[in-house]
Amino acid sequence: MDGKIFLCTALIREAHELKAFAHAGQNKTLQLLKKEYYWQGRNNNIKRYIKNCRDYQRNKTRHDKTPGLLHPLLIPKRVWEHVMVDGKSMPKNDKGYDYVWAFVCQFKKKALEIVKQNQKVQELAQQNAVAAHALIETQANKKHQSVDFTVSDIVYVSKKGFLTEAPTMKLDSQNAGPWTIMEKRGHSFILDTPPWYKGSKLFHANRLWKVAQNLLPQQQLEPEPPVEINREPE
Ligand SMILES: [Zn+2]
Repeated sequence: MDGKIFLCTALIREAHELKAFAHAGQNKTLQLLKKEYYWQGRNNNIKRYIKNCRDYQRNKTRHDKTPGLLHPLLIPKRVWEHVMVDGKSMPKNDKGYDYVWAFVCQFKKKALEIVKQNQKVQELAQQNAVAAHALIETQANKKHQSVDFTVSDIVYVSKKGFLTEAPTMKLDSQNAGPWTIMEKRGHSFILDTPPWYKGSKLFHANRLWKVAQNLLPQQQLEPEPPVEINREPE
């Protein structure tokens, strides 16, 4: 029995990791396998394998179908009613500025300002970022939601809302993680984000989903990608 499941895992790995498809999804992997192989539980094995593939989870596009959660539809009516804020360090320029913040108005759907400020002002902006997020959370929580995450859960984060269009950033995957939940705040969670991530650590539940931790026998975790943002050397 064990020998059989090991063989199955190997077959799934081979189909799923075919170079042309680079970590194929469930349907593609099944298509590749089903012409030649059938075993009992095959489709479930494929599903489980892919749920446990971190590379696939980080790169898949989510369609906001998080079970049990409503996707909050934020429709701001005024300019600057909802603001997303994000930023990163940069080498000091001639004015002594060493940080770039981008403020994105959700009404205009684009960055209205990119402000360069030094590290002291950064803290102020960080507080504003938290305030802006808090506002967004308040709006989101007006819709009823059930949250099934708890402290110490390990989750992926949808990068929707990170400033992928900001020119200073290089975010190459759809999602980030696995990150650990440190604290619960209403329907949002503080995550143990890595040093490269400079945004708010507070994430709404609708952007999170749990990391699967039931690898198939002999399924191996891929190594973590090194650093996700193209940072200047410190
Ligand atoms: Zn994979």
